[in-house]
Amino acid sequence: MTDASPSPRRVAEIASYHAHIYFDDATGRATATRLRDLIAARFPVRLGRWHDVPVGPHVAPMYQIAFATPVFAALVPWLMLNHGGLNILIHPNTRNPRRDHLCDGLWIGRPRALLSDRLPDHADEADGAGEVNTQPDPAAEI
Ligand code: ZN
Repeated sequence: MTDASPSPRRVAEIASYHAHIYFDDATGRATATRLRDLIAARFPVRLGRWHDVPVGPHVAPMYQIAFATPVFAALVPWLMLNHGGLNILIHPNTRNPRRDHLCDGLWIGRPRALLSDRLPDHADEADGAGEVNTQPDPAAEI
């Protein structure tokens, strides 16, 4: 018999977050470039490599931004207002990458398909935010 009311999960499970910024064509790539520069000037994050072809569970070109949990409160609302029509997946990083991406994330813009068979349902360790590789200007307006 399953417990009808399991203990709620704790936010301490979340080691970091990812934002995946998707683009489809040259215009989208230009918008994604501008967005990347604006983010780099404002937020302490780790900007990932450009993937101009689909990679892993992602079915469109994109780049990833990894960030520590305290950054969420400023970065995510800023992306809501400044995504420029791009579709963005924000997901937590816990020890269940499949659930993180498919069930527990949120979308800015329109949801995109993900290849669920490329996502393991267990990881020994949740992905951390990694080293910050931006140099935000404290005077930049958010
Ligand atoms: Zn991710």
